[in-house]
Amino acid sequence: MKTLTNKKALVLGGSRGIGAATVTRLANEGAEVTFTYGGSENAAQALAKTTGAGAVQLDSVDRDALTAFIADQDSLDILVINAGTFIFGSPFDLNPDDVDYMIDLNVRAPYHAAVEAAKKMNQGGRIVVIGSVNGDRMPMQGAAAYALTKSAIQGMVKGLARDFGERGITVNNIQPGPVNTDMNPEDGPFKDVMHSFLAIKRHARTDEIAGLVAYLTGPEASYITGAQHTIDGGFGA
Ligand code: NDP
Repeated sequence: MKTLTNKKALVLGGSRGIGAATVTRLANEGAEVTFTYGGSENAAQALAKTTGAGAVQLDSVDRDALTAFIADQDSLDILVINAGTFIFGSPFDLNPDDVDYMIDLNVRAPYHAAVEAAKKMNQGGRIVVIGSVNGDRMPMQGAAAYALTKSAIQGMVKGLARDFGERGITVNNIQPGPVNTDMNPEDGPFKDVMHSFLAIKRHARTDEIAGLVAYLTGPEASYITGAQHTIDGGFGA
C-alpha cells in the first residue's frame, strides 16, 4: 500500500546519493515529488526520467532564490532537506571561506528552507533534515566544523518542532552513520577506520536511509517531532 498518495514533496539536493534514493522512495510511495540539485545536471535529468519527479537547478546557498522557490510552490506537504557537504582537514589548514560555505549549506539553508516551507504547508506537514551521527559523536580529527553543522541541526529541529507543532507539522533530524555515496564511498581511504567504529561492519545503503525518511514523512509518524533519529550501524553505541 502506498503511504504518500496525494502528498506534495520537495527534496532539496536530490540528484545523487541519499537525496536520489529519497526522491525514488517518496515517488514510489505515491508522492508528487520535486527535487533541487546544484551541478549534477545529467544525474538530475536521468532521475527525473526514471521517477517522474520534477528537477530544478537551485543552489541552496542562495538564500533569496531558495526561499522564493519554496514560496512559489502551490502547496507543500513534505520537505526533505538533504543538500549538504563535508569539508575535511586540520582547522589550521582549512580555508575559512570553505568552512563558511559548509555552514551556509548545512545550517543556514536548512533553517531558512524549513521556515519558508512551514508557511506553505498544509496541516500535518512533515519536515525532515538529514543531519549526521557526527552531531552526537566525532571520533576523528579534521571534522570539527562538519560536526558543528550537524550539532546545530539538532537544536534547530527541537525549536522548530515547538514553533510549528500547533499546526501538526513535525520536524525531525535523521542522523546517518557512514553511507555509501560519492561523499563517503565504501571503498574510500576511511573504510577501515570507519568500520572499526561500527557494530554492523559496512556502510549503509542509501535506500536504508530513504526508508526512514519515508516512515517519518508518512501517516504513522504524526506524533514524532523535535527528535533525532540515529541510523548508524552502531557507530554511536
Ligand atoms: P552526496 O555528495 O553524494 O550528494 C549531495 C547532494 O546534495 C547532491 O544531490 C548534490 O547535488 C546536492 N547539493 C550539494 N550542494 C548543493 C547546493 N549548494 N545546492 C543544491 N544541492 C546541493 O552526499 P550524500 O548523499 O552522502 O549526503 C547527503 C546528506 O547526508 C548530507 O547532508 C550529508 O552531510 C549527510 N550525511 C552523509 C553521510 C555519508 O556517509 N554519506 C553520513 C551522514 C550524513 P549536485 O551534485 O547536483 O550539486
